[in-house]
Amino acid sequence: MKFKCILNGWAPNVKAQAEELNSFMNSFLGNGANPASTILFYANHEDRHSLPGLVPTECAEFVRIDRCQPETILEALQRIEDKEDTSLYLFPAGFAGAELAVRWAFRQKGSSLVQVEQVAPREGCLIAKKKAYADHVLAAFRLTRQPFCISPANGSVDRLPIAARDNLQIIEHDLTGLREDAFARDSQRIPAEQAKDLGAGKFLVVGGRGLGSKEHVKQLKDVAAAMGAEFGISRPVALNAWGPMQWLIGVSGTIARPDVCIAAGVSGAAAFYAGIEKSKIIIAINSDPQARIIKAADVAIIDDYKTVMDELLKILKPIKPAI
Ligand SMILES: Cc1cc2nc3c(=O)[nH]c(=O)nc-3n(C[C@H](O)[C@H](O)[C@H](O)COP(=O)(O)OP(=O)(O)OC[C@H]3O[C@@H](n4cnc5c(N)ncnc54)[C@H](O)[C@@H]3O)c2cc1C
Repeated sequence: MKFKCILNGWAPNVKAQAEELNSFMNSFLGNGANPASTILFYANHEDRHSLPGLVPTECAEFVRIDRCQPETILEALQRIEDKEDTSLYLFPAGFAGAELAVRWAFRQKGSSLVQVEQVAPREGCLIAKKKAYADHVLAAFRLTRQPFCISPANGSVDRLPIAARDNLQIIEHDLTGLREDAFARDSQRIPAEQAKDLGAGKFLVVGGRGLGSKEHVKQLKDVAAAMGAEFGISRPVALNAWGPMQWLIGVSGTIARPDVCIAAGVSGAAAFYAGIEKSKIIIAINSDPQARIIKAADVAIIDDYKTVMDELLKILKPIKPAI
């Protein structure tokens, strides 16, 4: 698997980044079967002499640019790598490297993964591992669309000093004068929806995969709001992007302690149940009488959750005054 390390000589910690990539490469890609080179961006002629000491591979391309913005680097990469057959790009750890990895993968129609702990090339794919669920598990991802663009997790490997190379093969590019960044002229930060303290509410409605769609999740949330209840979701609902992660109930999200919890369309898996078991009363609505939640609940309703919610809404509708 042909791979390239991408380094930005503008970065104040470029030496540390180079040593980390050197270590990452040696730990997971260093069996000699993987031809490798480094693309190193820099600004001034004065910096040029120090670049060879930052190269962790046998070959290097030194690229002079006059702005260190991500857009300039991506544009320069596009020009250099136009007809390249690189399978794997290794970007530095940290925010800047992660941003480049994701945006380069998008441009190249490849796949990206950031905060990666380990990689292992396989025939036609890359297995990459990263921590997930508040670092409780090391999840393995199978990337299949090349090029693979990876940014390691900070501290995933110890730094490995770069050995001096007499026979370093260097290609030089001068790409100063690339057009000015056109990507972002103005930016505005829009705060994400404030994470609510779900655990604090007295009344909680939780929707699971049984709801079947994003639209149904929204409807159930509206019902919860009409009842004055907080709203939460199970993990498959969050992973399907039917609702945001901050609504997640369970070991990976909020452990709630409401007086009353209505769980609709959830099976009651242990990792979820831990998030509601401290409720004073659990009401489960599930169409499957064998569902685990039915046995664990104080009140069990065996039915389509929608039928039950529709009936609830009727009760909640304000009674029209008689004329
Ligand atoms: C390390 C780890 C951490 C995890 N952390 C969490 C966590 O924090 N939170 C979490 O939720 N999960 C977590 N999980 C996942 C968890 O194990 C379950 O996979 C998940 O809770 C199942 O979600 P669910 O009940 O919505 O879906 P399912 O298990 O698919 O259940 C759907 C239920 O809906 C019922 N249903 C279907 N249609 C209807 C209908 N029309 N009306 C009524 N009922 C219907 C079905 O009978 C079924 O019981 C974790 C797993 C792991 C490995």
